[in-house]
Amino acid sequence: MGELSKSKPELYEEIRQLRDELASAHQAKEERTAELYRSEERFALAMRGANDGLWDWDLTTDEVYYSPGWKSMLGYCENELESHIDTWATLVHPDDKDVVLANVQDYLSGVNKSFEVEMRMRHKDGNYVFIRSRAFKVSNSTSSKPNRLIGTHVDISLRKRTELYDERNAKILEMIAKGTPASEIYDEIAYLYEERHPGLRCSMLELDGNVLRHGGAPSLPQAYCEAVDGLNNGPDVGSCGTSTYTGHRVIVENIETDPKWADLKGYALPHGMRCCWSEPIKSSSGKVLGAFGMYYDHPAVPNEFESNDLTLAARLAGIIMERDHNQKRIKNLAYKDELTGLSSRAHLFLSVQNIIDLPTQDTERFSLLYIDLDNFKSVNDSLGHDIGDLLLKEIAQRLLSISRDVDIVARLGGDEFCIAMNDIEDSIDTAHVAQRCLDIISEPVDFFGRKFRPTCSIGIARYPDDGTDLQALLKAADTALYAAKDLGKYRYAFYKEEFTNNAEYQFRVEQYLREAIENHQLNLVYQPQIDIQNGEITGVEALSRWNHSVLGPVSPLEFIATAERIGMIKPLTEWVLKTACRQAVAWRKAGYPSIRMAVNISPSHFLDDDFIPLIQSILDETGMVPTDLELEVTESVVHTDQKNLFIFRKLKELGVLLAIDDFGTGYSSFASLKHLNVDYLKIDKYFIDDMLDDKKTELLIGSMIEMGHNLNHEIIAEGIETAEQLARLREFGCETAQGFLFSRPVIAEEVSDLLKQHVVY
Ligand code: C2E
Ligand code: MG
Ligand code: MG
Repeated sequence: MGELSKSKPELYEEIRQLRDELASAHQAKEERTAELYRSEERFALAMRGANDGLWDWDLTTDEVYYSPGWKSMLGYCENELESHIDTWATLVHPDDKDVVLANVQDYLSGVNKSFEVEMRMRHKDGNYVFIRSRAFKVSNSTSSKPNRLIGTHVDISLRKRTELYDERNAKILEMIAKGTPASEIYDEIAYLYEERHPGLRCSMLELDGNVLRHGGAPSLPQAYCEAVDGLNNGPDVGSCGTSTYTGHRVIVENIETDPKWADLKGYALPHGMRCCWSEPIKSSSGKVLGAFGMYYDHPAVPNEFESNDLTLAARLAGIIMERDHNQKRIKNLAYKDELTGLSSRAHLFLSVQNIIDLPTQDTERFSLLYIDLDNFKSVNDSLGHDIGDLLLKEIAQRLLSISRDVDIVARLGGDEFCIAMNDIEDSIDTAHVAQRCLDIISEPVDFFGRKFRPTCSIGIARYPDDGTDLQALLKAADTALYAAKDLGKYRYAFYKEEFTNNAEYQFRVEQYLREAIENHQLNLVYQPQIDIQNGEITGVEALSRWNHSVLGPVSPLEFIATAERIGMIKPLTEWVLKTACRQAVAWRKAGYPSIRMAVNISPSHFLDDDFIPLIQSILDETGMVPTDLELEVTESVVHTDQKNLFIFRKLKELGVLLAIDDFGTGYSSFASLKHLNVDYLKIDKYFIDDMLDDKKTELLIGSMIEMGHNLNHEIIAEGIETAEQLARLREFGCETAQGFLFSRPVIAEEVSDLLKQHVVY
């Protein structure tokens, strides 16, 4: 009760004291709070000053406080980005996310004593920033379980990039040491600088004479690289074309507006490139070898860091480029003949060995031409070595001009040349090339007013008949060359004499035939075709004959093939058509019963664009009744592609008749025949010969006739020599027959007699 016994004033005093205590406690708390605020602000300020970011993750709600410094590190303002853990999750590099979360887990659960990780986070401009994150956990007083994680972010990009730069540099040095191809190293150099400068794209161009060649640009689009490859450099050719031309650095801040890019910006702008800085790449002696280009997707000029790197990059690329050039030069020296630029002996050996080693069919045959200039020594002695050198260069050019890409043209030394011809059909083809060499080399030359006519001799060896390695082949070709020289020079000779004879014969035939066709020295004979039912002559087949004063009569099988090979089949056919049609018109005019005139047409000519107009003009010129003209073609044209369909249709529109000659010996499908509107099938003598002795052949003929009839074709059987054959064909229902049984091919006058007498067989 003592308390109660306190007097009122005492009590008032006590209350006042308590109020004062409370007030001072409150003030102390306020001061402490203010102090706390001040220190946090100082911390934040300190963080901002240190360029660090602060974050505070509430583990119960997943809300995260990201400080302004944190945001600006990634290019964002204070009021951007949600205060949630998802913000971090979307910005962290996908490859780093799980590693960081696992570290958080280990730290929170106590497995790790501290938390420190490195990760990449996406900057607002799209590039990644390297970040080191440290944090500590906080628990509230009631629980030991942490409810917050507070940490910092520090931008360590610079250090990281330096580390990566060092690693890449070491890799490039290793590639140089190992002799890695230049193009691969160029790519690595581009990556090196692109990693150091986010958003940068690099290119290296090589200068080949005045032409820019693509070297490496792994991050530039292929279409752009292809467009630049092959451009000539010049004073206004973009940045790199200009820098290689002037030998000085060219900075283009804005591709869109810079006049140097006027002609080229169309290639760059669609791919986003907006600025381009180019440094010439130079050799140790200062020669411009190419250019190093740096591109950004926004207009800019280089800062000091970029500018230094442009110098360094061009220097590094220069080391590689120079090494590459030297290697190519050494290879050229070994593989190229310096005077003429042709392949060297070493290159010929290598190439021939490669051809021999090839596992394909092409290697089954190839030919070696050993070419030696006639009397070259006297050129050197009388006109001097300079003229001699000029002549050798001229010969080299001439040989190149007649060779194909697959041929290897080499100079073996002195006045000796060699052509290795891969993929060549036969000795006649080889002889043709040899003849072309003789012809082209013997064209006159004019050096400083001194005109003369070089000639050469050629020895030919063939793989594998004359040798199975280059050494043996060269020896054989050399032997043949001596034979050619012995025979009087300015000629070719095969290692095996019979090939030379064959080729010479063939050439003579070709020349005579050309003359015969041009001068209309061929004749036509006509072989009657008989209606099997009544024995009357219903048509004749015109057949060419060639009787040469030296060669004697030459088989049409032979000269037709030759005419095709030497490109004379068109004038030959034109002459046959005109002569045959005139003859048919003459018979009609003489009042003989009208008969069909069959003319053979080579498939190549039949499919030629000129063929339809030719037939039209011959019909017009000769007054031939179109339905009296029958064109015989072999089965090779029986195809239903557009061209063949068109030609068959056009010919039918003209009204002429069509026959498939030698039917059954080639390849044709009945399905195609159905579409081609053919009037006659001519069954070849090959079947007729056997039909009485071989049941199968007889059956085959029966089927061909039946199928032909079903498809609305009439049948002509050729090569009928016996009455038994005729009887059998009559039973089969064959309409027409042609053969020695009735008549051999005869001259027009004899046919006239047969028609006049109205002979019936
Ligand atoms: P082809 O068109 O099949 O002509 C039929 C060939 O068989 C002719 O040979 C003819 O004389 C021969 N022959 C006909 N009946 C008999 C027979 O009963 N017994 C024997 N043993 N042979 C017979 P030819 O005149 O030697 O013509 C051969 C080939 O040359 C022709 O075969 C034809 O494809 C071609 N030909 C002839 N002249 C020309 C022409 O002017 N132009 C074209 N492109 N080729 C022609
Ligand atoms: Mg024929
Ligand atoms: Mg035939």
